[in-house]
Amino acid sequence: MLLLLFPVSLFAQAKDTVAMRYSKIITKDDLHGYLQIVADSSMEGRETGKEGQKMCADFIYNMFKSFEIPPYKDKTYYQTFPLNIIKPMPAEINVNGKQYMVNGDFYSFPGQSEQRIEVSNVLFLGYGMDDEKYNDYKGVDVKDKTLMILSGEPMNSDSVYFVSGNKTKSQWTSNYRLKLEKAREKGARAVLIVVDNVIEDVRANKHRLETESMKLEMDKTEMPIVYISKEMANDILKKTKVEKLKEKICASGKPIIKSAKTKMIIDIKNRITKITSENVLGYIEGSDLKNELIIVTAHYDHLGMDKNKVYCGADDDGSGTVAIIELAKTFAQAKKEGHGARRSMLFMTVAGEEKGLLGSSYYVQHPEFPLKNTVCDLNIDMIGRQDEKHKDNPDYVYIIGDDKLSSTLHTISENANKTYSNLELDYTYNDENDKNRFYYRSDHYNFAKNGIPVIFYFNGVHADYHRPTDTVDKINFEKMEKITRLVFFTAWELANRNERIVVDSDKK
Ligand SMILES: [Zn+2]
Repeated sequence: MLLLLFPVSLFAQAKDTVAMRYSKIITKDDLHGYLQIVADSSMEGRETGKEGQKMCADFIYNMFKSFEIPPYKDKTYYQTFPLNIIKPMPAEINVNGKQYMVNGDFYSFPGQSEQRIEVSNVLFLGYGMDDEKYNDYKGVDVKDKTLMILSGEPMNSDSVYFVSGNKTKSQWTSNYRLKLEKAREKGARAVLIVVDNVIEDVRANKHRLETESMKLEMDKTEMPIVYISKEMANDILKKTKVEKLKEKICASGKPIIKSAKTKMIIDIKNRITKITSENVLGYIEGSDLKNELIIVTAHYDHLGMDKNKVYCGADDDGSGTVAIIELAKTFAQAKKEGHGARRSMLFMTVAGEEKGLLGSSYYVQHPEFPLKNTVCDLNIDMIGRQDEKHKDNPDYVYIIGDDKLSSTLHTISENANKTYSNLELDYTYNDENDKNRFYYRSDHYNFAKNGIPVIFYFNGVHADYHRPTDTVDKINFEKMEKITRLVFFTAWELANRNERIVVDSDKK
């Protein structure tokens, strides 16, 4: 059979009267009512793992139940996931019988997997692997090896990075992250990074080094990263001086690889408290295309309390949370009246976002529905306020990520807006060079990482962002109603159109 492909029209399409009718279920009064509960100080700032987060989960659970959405697993709406609260403990390192001093000779960030590594060989890799000009490194087998790399990038005597001209700090940082990611991917045992000044680094990172962190409980031991002084590096490399190697690389522009026989014990320790948290899932089964899934997400956790101050998080992300509740209500009502979506819908409020996108990260690692059948994720994070740029026009929303994986998704989103909503869609933060990097900073990113197209709806930051003053009285509910309806029209089209949207680009 011949498959005919028609171009998606760029003009506003005819209005779908059924969709129009159901969109009216979404009202500013409902949103206001829900948000007064979600962002109330009795929720204690909804910090992941704490009582307030559990109370909010319970509220969402009961809302889904009241809409007569059946629990996605026999008895529950919860996807419970294990978390570790990790208290920093000093690591111990011994090189050839000599004990080194933590935060003097070396440092490492808390939250790494507990482990004891006995090393007999260290592989010096200059400035690292897979750099544009350092292709030679690509052939190096790093599996199970303990690597030593120099921090920064090679510079010539005029302090110019000769790898690709003058790099900006952010390019440098992402390059650095990439090197570590590659080492991890290729199965390195550990990475030692030689830094210029351990004491200065420790001072600059005091907070991060001393604060407890929260992580998903790991299924496997992760590659540790330790930052070491030049003196310690010299002791590890024995006869060779790291400073000399550095000079040589910078003068020649050529990589140097060296293997050093050395006895080293790296002992990473942790003090772990185990807790659990939960994502709340409202699943509405589709009709003829029910094996395909549209996900709509928002995080319901926030920053908790600081002494007596409650971080209410009305905008962040109470606004997204109540939008999800309202959207679930709308799609459930449509189904009850014989207008159920063709594809299945998952309305998911996730926890752990403020601790590092943990709830969504757990979901994509343990998906309740196959990721390959997951068409897209529409993620809502902060839609109740206005930023400085739009202080005279509340009817806008930043759209981020919509064209990164699927050109169809971008068109559908634009059409939904032109046909029904007429908001100003601002793509400023969709620019991959934007220094805020919002694309990487909310839950949709965990889906995008897995090749699932996403849209991130966002109103930008404001003076109350991550402050106790992010409260309900400052929310513009009319604006929220409009954006929630735009998400509804977009989701409605995605759920009911004949073809699943294509994945045809990779701009992530
Ligand atoms: Zn947020």
